[in-house]
Amino acid sequence: MTRPDAPPSARPRPETPPSVHPHPDTLAVHPPHVEVTGSRPLGVPLHQGHVFAFDSADALAEGFTSPDAFLYARLGNPTVRTLEDAVARLEGGASGLSFASGMGAVNAVLLSLLGSGAHVVAQTCLYGGTYAVLTDLAARWGVHVTYVSGTDPEEVRAALRPETRLLYLETIANPTTRVSDLPALAAVAAEAGVPVAVDNTFASPLLCRPLDHGADVVIHSATKYLAGHADVLGGVAVFKDRELYGRVRRHAVEQGASTDPFAAWLTLRGLQTLSLRVERQCANAAELAARLAAHPAVAAARHPSLASHPDREVAARLLPAGGGGVVSIDLAGGRDAGRTFVEAVRLASLSVSLGDVKTLVMHPASTSHHQLDAAALAAAGIGAGTVRISVGIEHVEDLWTDLEQALDQVLKKAA
Ligand SMILES: *Cc1c(COP(=O)(O)O)cnc(C)c1O
Repeated sequence: MTRPDAPPSARPRPETPPSVHPHPDTLAVHPPHVEVTGSRPLGVPLHQGHVFAFDSADALAEGFTSPDAFLYARLGNPTVRTLEDAVARLEGGASGLSFASGMGAVNAVLLSLLGSGAHVVAQTCLYGGTYAVLTDLAARWGVHVTYVSGTDPEEVRAALRPETRLLYLETIANPTTRVSDLPALAAVAAEAGVPVAVDNTFASPLLCRPLDHGADVVIHSATKYLAGHADVLGGVAVFKDRELYGRVRRHAVEQGASTDPFAAWLTLRGLQTLSLRVERQCANAAELAARLAAHPAVAAARHPSLASHPDREVAARLLPAGGGGVVSIDLAGGRDAGRTFVEAVRLASLSVSLGDVKTLVMHPASTSHHQLDAAALAAAGIGAGTVRISVGIEHVEDLWTDLEQALDQVLKKAA
């Protein structure tokens, strides 16, 4: 059957193998190809196949040079492309690239834009995996990194050098919830012709679109808010223009951290409810942050919605729809209180990760950041009693009941 969009030179595909009576062994290998005509699937089709057949040798040859062709899934797959286009549209970018994980996206961007001797300016409070990659690049490739607070444009200006190739920021920092003044920082980089990459995982494109504020690349761990259901790893990078996309795509194809089509399909399934989830997570987080701040076991609560937040004014400009779903608290009782709290929750789960429909709590000082000493913890804005709460979509009163009983246990144990 000839496809309606097939080029005129394409030969019609036979529907069955060429022999008149193929052997069952052959039939088993060649099931009939069912085309959907007259209707279309409402859900995104899952194209799990990794390799595509062509009718013309010329078309296959052309496929090698066109990023839009489908020939081999590491170079492109229709379900994965649907995810790339969906996130690119949400972020307002020219094109997207999907990866097997958020770290796949981070690595592809860093390795494509940096070479040996290159200089990067990055914010201090970085996702741990990203910090590890930069440290590795510094040790093995002679990449130089200058860390800045991420809140002061003049600090960025002073850090720039002729060989600076990238300014790397995060919209909302982990776990401090500090909000980077993206437009002010990106403007300084633009004056110097330095591209800006922003990890927008904590905000999602529904709360902030960094490309609108001067970024050139946006990175997501799709594992978190975009997918949202604790069942898939993924990453996406979105590019302001096709030139940058082309540079990173070439590298990504070589690196091979491609997305499995089923993972892309799960992410697309999650994406359909992103706005409902994020709206509820933001509302729950703001309400819980206010109640947590008033509890006697809590020395400080941090969420961009709180009047006490140091970046309140930046957050009002950059995150007008909500301050995100992550709240962090400093327990007055320090490390012991942190451990008691995360083991005392019942509805929430003691887990790493964030952006899930379920509420997750963790104690950075004894887990994700256990290798840091007190000084390094303080530099990262983490106290011995800091607990990160990734607020889910459960009913806010059930969440408060759980967090409150856990805080009461902290007080009881300290008494
Ligand atoms: C989780 C996370 C990553 C890494 O993503 P993976 O999907 O775990 O590889 C990168 N940046 C941020 C801000 C994250 O939270």
